[in-house]
Amino acid sequence: MSELINKLNEFTRREHTEDEVYIFDLVLCDNDIDRDGECFSLSALETLQKLFIGKTGLFDHDTKGTNQTARIFSTELITDNSKKTKYGAVYTYLKACAYMVKTSSNADLIKEIDGGIKKEVSISCSCLNQTCSICGANKKKKSCGHIKGKVYGGKPCYVILDDVTDAYEWSFVAVPAQINAGVTKRFGNSSDENEIIKMMQNELDERDKIIGLIGENLKAEITKLSFLTKSHSLSTILSTVVERMDVMEMIELKEGLEKEYRGKTQRQLVKAYDDNNSSFKL
Ligand SMILES: [Zn+2]
Repeated sequence: MSELINKLNEFTRREHTEDEVYIFDLVLCDNDIDRDGECFSLSALETLQKLFIGKTGLFDHDTKGTNQTARIFSTELITDNSKKTKYGAVYTYLKACAYMVKTSSNADLIKEIDGGIKKEVSISCSCLNQTCSICGANKKKKSCGHIKGKVYGGKPCYVILDDVTDAYEWSFVAVPAQINAGVTKRFGNSSDENEIIKMMQNELDERDKIIGLIGENLKAEITKLSFLTKSHSLSTILSTVVERMDVMEMIELKEGLEKEYRGKTQRQLVKAYDDNNSSFKL
């Protein structure tokens, strides 16, 4: 404890005693896939580790309406070798140490934190890169049609958040204890901006769903055409490659196959015509 107090006092302007402050640990985020089908890359976690030092946290659903805050004064990236993420990587999480100066008004809140009621932490940060785990497209810039949570060629689709440019704040959210702790991310720094970004994100998700359907349709079409053309260019190995293609690539492949199919039927017609004519000559 005294080691923590020393660390804290290095950080604050005024010296605090052990009795004056309440110090607690929290998990800000990790590299596992969350409920939104997203995860932070290791380099994103490393950046967040630096950015969250000194950041203030708020407490949601504060019953007394008073603005309770806590501040992070130390962060640590912890690798848990005994645990794997859903995609099989070693589990790594960003732990933070925060403090509150004890007052008469935050005694209840401290009890709640101690009792583990305020479990879930929501962080807000911005990321430039949102990479699709299937095709590697930056979903922030283009819709590839792969839908988070779906499985393509045996591989789960999720989005890797990378290139963190800023961390804004964090907050404790009171949630029922049965829900597993997780991270709710907000991208942006003002609530207005957040609303717009949320709306745009929803629209993009919607568009992704539509493109996903088009992709399914294209896949079926490609399978049919490769059967019709008896194309050697599309073996079983290639059909798994189709799973990883984005919609534009699938359209190109489909057009190629269509051309091949048209060429083949054309040749067959000519041959049939020739065959017919030659039989007449006999
Ligand atoms: Zn994709």
